[in-house]
Amino acid sequence: MSETLEFQAEARQLLQLMVHSIYSNKDVFLRELISNASDALDKLRIASLVDKDLDADTTDLHIALETDRSARTLSVRDNGIGMSREDVVGLIGTIARSGTAELLRKLKETQDGTGSPELIGQFGVGFYATFMVADKVTLTTRRAGESTGTRWESAGEGTYTIEEVEGLPPGTTVTVHLKPEDAEDKLFDYTAEWKIREIVKRYSDFISWPIRLTTERVGEDEAVVSEIQTLNSMKALWARPRAEVDEAEYVEFYKHISHDWAEPLETVHMRAEGTFEYEALLFLPTHAPFDLHMRDGRRGVQLYVKRVFIMDDCEALMPHYLRFVKGVVDAHDLSLNISREILQQDRQIQSVRRKLVKKILTTVRDLMTAAPEKYTTFWTEFGRAVKEGLLEDPDNRELILDLVSAASTHDADAPTTLRAYVERMKDGQKDIYYMTGDSRSMIENSPHMEAFRSKGFEVLILTDPIDEVWVDQVMQYDGKPLQSIAKGQVDLDAGAEKSEAEKQEEETQREHFGPLLGWLGETLADQVKEVRLSARLTTSPACIVGDTMDMTPTLEKMYRAMGQEVPHVKRILEINPEHPLVLRLQAAQAAGKDETEVAELLYGTALLAEGGELADPARFARLLADRLATTL
Ligand code: ADP
Repeated sequence: MSETLEFQAEARQLLQLMVHSIYSNKDVFLRELISNASDALDKLRIASLVDKDLDADTTDLHIALETDRSARTLSVRDNGIGMSREDVVGLIGTIARSGTAELLRKLKETQDGTGSPELIGQFGVGFYATFMVADKVTLTTRRAGESTGTRWESAGEGTYTIEEVEGLPPGTTVTVHLKPEDAEDKLFDYTAEWKIREIVKRYSDFISWPIRLTTERVGEDEAVVSEIQTLNSMKALWARPRAEVDEAEYVEFYKHISHDWAEPLETVHMRAEGTFEYEALLFLPTHAPFDLHMRDGRRGVQLYVKRVFIMDDCEALMPHYLRFVKGVVDAHDLSLNISREILQQDRQIQSVRRKLVKKILTTVRDLMTAAPEKYTTFWTEFGRAVKEGLLEDPDNRELILDLVSAASTHDADAPTTLRAYVERMKDGQKDIYYMTGDSRSMIENSPHMEAFRSKGFEVLILTDPIDEVWVDQVMQYDGKPLQSIAKGQVDLDAGAEKSEAEKQEEETQREHFGPLLGWLGETLADQVKEVRLSARLTTSPACIVGDTMDMTPTLEKMYRAMGQEVPHVKRILEINPEHPLVLRLQAAQAAGKDETEVAELLYGTALLAEGGELADPARFARLLADRLATTL
């Protein structure tokens, strides 16, 4: 009873891309199949430890490769965990990861629409890679503990057939029916022993289960003898001294554990001896996975105990903000059936985690000087995630701040580090100035920037949503307070001694504008909590600022978007005592005229200038039009 089913739309599109892929290195399909088989063996071993009643034979876990030259097939067989019928439909016929649609859209945007290999690789198409070399793929599988098996077959074009079968061995066999058009090309002869041997050696040597190849040769008496050979050395890469590992071996290992097809950006190999022995082999990827900022994104440090795989995504070893770090930690003194919960509590694991985090962060810091272009790649890809660490990991705050790069008014093209900012600070400048907002242009053109620009103070331009949050928590860097230019009072002349004449002038100004400030404060009482004279404006008549401890409007919006109730924060209106509009308004108010509408307009323009939203745009437009009409 065979059924024909359709691939889910996203899966179908991804398959299409794979079938027509121009990916030059087709050999990797075998790496992917072996990788899956190896994972399936790990899973069965763990399952049999956890579930003593599971009827599974784990005495000879291995991967077997078989070729049939005349039928032009290659099979990869494992006696691992296997899949149920639902597993096959769900795992092979569907792609359930959020963000797939987005990824496909990006793939289609690449010039020729065939998809860039890096993007495909980032996604980790795994099993589908077989369709680069196959015109048909058959998969038979039986899940550990179940008696009925499943046979799945597809030509990679929209549909597959699936049926129940009895009498299958436990585990999974994938049979690749090689494309006839590659038959003449020796390079693509995946039935040749040398070819298979070469691929396994190059990509899968470190796999910890034996990868066996059955070959046949004609013996002396003309009889066909079959031989079984193990192709991989099974040596754990992380356990070997660094000097003895080739760069290429690290790269292939990285690809195996990360499902990434690109090379890693940086490799960290460390070993600790003493009371708690462990080895760690960690990698910084070159690209952020497309789902880095999604809830169900994959992450990646695996835990081994004495060479034996224990678990994926070991969150006890790596904090969330470093979720993109891939690799393996092999701890020697843990029990083989340790649980996630116990790991989280384990003091030694906590200490390992602290060391790993330090090592990753200092590795990045070293890149800043040793390989600036690598650092730039790193920060562009992972900076947003790393900044989460400013909130999550107060112990390493200074170290993380050392890594932060941000746009700045100093250079329109290149971001700056905080360190470089501090080195450029002017004599007498005490604070590190920044402004947060939705976009660079909005911040650069906001009225808050005026005095800073005219006096030549550098301002950091922070536009990541996470920036709104960390700047509130991180009070200072290198002993210098972080100060928003849109919050609190600014006094850019602080430090400079004021002359008597200047003090006198300020006093007069305060007296002169006192009644106007009072009247504006009453008139706009629903909108602002205070009206005061500004020291930050040169050309605009007014701007709106927050109190030092207040939430910014963007942050307020973010909380609302996340469904959190936050009180609306009233801010402060600052007016420019030198602007003609303010001067005339002062005169009119002193003469007893009712200029309520002008007050509203003044507030409205200040709000618009910072990119804010008017509560009643229609009213604002009407008031403005009426005023303009009277001036013409
Ligand atoms: P990936 O390996 O990147 O998750 P694949 O498309 O290669 O993606 O495989 C999808 C899923 O199918 C795997 O995560 C695994 O759960 C299951 N799978 C694939 N191959 C096997 C196998 N040989 N044995 C058991 N499960 C498998």
